[in-house]
Amino acid sequence: MVKAIVGANWGDEGKGKITDMFAKESDIVIRFQGGSNAGHTIVNEHGKFALHQLPSGVFFDHVTNIIGNGVALNIPNLIKEIKQIEEKGVKKPKILVSDRTQILMSYHILFDKYEEERLSKKQFGSTKSGIAPFYSDKYYKRGLQINDLFYEDSLREKVEEICTIKNVTLKYLYNKPELDPDELMKELMEYKREIEPYVANTFEFIHKALDEDKKILLEGQLGALKDPDFGIYPYVTSSSTLAGFGAVGAGIPPYKITDVISVVKAYSSAVGAGPFVTEIFGEEGDELRRRGGDGGEYGATTGRPRRVGWLDMVATRYGCKAQGATEIAFTVLDVLGYLDTIPVCVAYEIDGKETKEFPTNAQLEKAKPVFKYFPGWKSDIRGIKEYKDLPQNTKNYIKFVEEYIGVPIKLISNGPRRDDIIRL
Ligand code: GDP
Repeated sequence: MVKAIVGANWGDEGKGKITDMFAKESDIVIRFQGGSNAGHTIVNEHGKFALHQLPSGVFFDHVTNIIGNGVALNIPNLIKEIKQIEEKGVKKPKILVSDRTQILMSYHILFDKYEEERLSKKQFGSTKSGIAPFYSDKYYKRGLQINDLFYEDSLREKVEEICTIKNVTLKYLYNKPELDPDELMKELMEYKREIEPYVANTFEFIHKALDEDKKILLEGQLGALKDPDFGIYPYVTSSSTLAGFGAVGAGIPPYKITDVISVVKAYSSAVGAGPFVTEIFGEEGDELRRRGGDGGEYGATTGRPRRVGWLDMVATRYGCKAQGATEIAFTVLDVLGYLDTIPVCVAYEIDGKETKEFPTNAQLEKAKPVFKYFPGWKSDIRGIKEYKDLPQNTKNYIKFVEEYIGVPIKLISNGPRRDDIIRL
């Protein structure tokens, strides 16, 4: 049985906590896309963790954690995160890295930085983790797979080819120091030493697990609106954030992914540039940012203040459809307890016409939110364990969201801790 946990919005919906909950009931947790560019936050008995590269099952003894072939693997970051969790008293986790996963190299990070510098005011707001240059190389067929590390002669040839191409850009476009094949080989041999204990044929491992009816969890990063195809291109990430891509990025038959848990946040937040219809500014925005998440809406990877706004039902329903959601986890609801009235965007007005369909970017840039206002519940709902004990106004907000999207809400998260959860 395969479950996917994915984001319906722009990321930071609280997937980390939901994944952590389901990881406990799983045999295998798999990361299938993305890299160190986003982070999951998990709060448990060992402390608070921001995981970027590690799957969220690492806190459980019985879970095998897999870095799938679709991931952009930053090996030093992976090793650092393993050390960090062990230092906080977590038992050595079981980790397998696919022999087909590609390696995020130091030059990917440099190219990311140089390109953002070159773009200056027009930059995308990249986290500068090297993700876009990494995936460009992958699809340009200049990437390096983990298995390449074990064939030094052919690896050297590939590295020299990479240097030939990259050095032209470095010299003439960016005016930066060129790459040296010897240095890159040194970097790669160091990676080989570090990663070797974790490398496996995860494809066969996963297929055997499927035959044995094991419980598998696919852990998505970011959200549907950051998907390169269905998101707000080009203000997106460079690998697919959709549950469907889990089949590709992990190596699982698509029909085996039967449960898609789409995580929807009770208000909106986003990082980086791009259209954001319900964004709020000034004191109103600052207050939501300050009260948001667990200790404010600031990036888990970069510490940057996140952009915040009201819940956008047009974008969220679209995001859930793109994910193929079979159920919803509605998160961070406790944060809205301070509001007298809660605006929810129920349609867009574009060129004087109302629509509930999520448009492409040129139209989206022109969209104005049409709000419906809900009376707030003016109380702290953390600690409530049963749906029936929630204030009526909270229930009204939840029911509206569920009906609008047309997918059942099965979980409500009313605080950052593992047990701040209401099951429906
Ligand atoms: P992800 O990128 O979707 O995994 O998002 P994170 O896991 O980083 O979650 C964003 C933040 O929200 C983190 O600081 C979490 O601890 C926090 N968080 C998650 N669920 C809740 C919730 O229900 N209420 C509150 N207040 N914070 C939450």
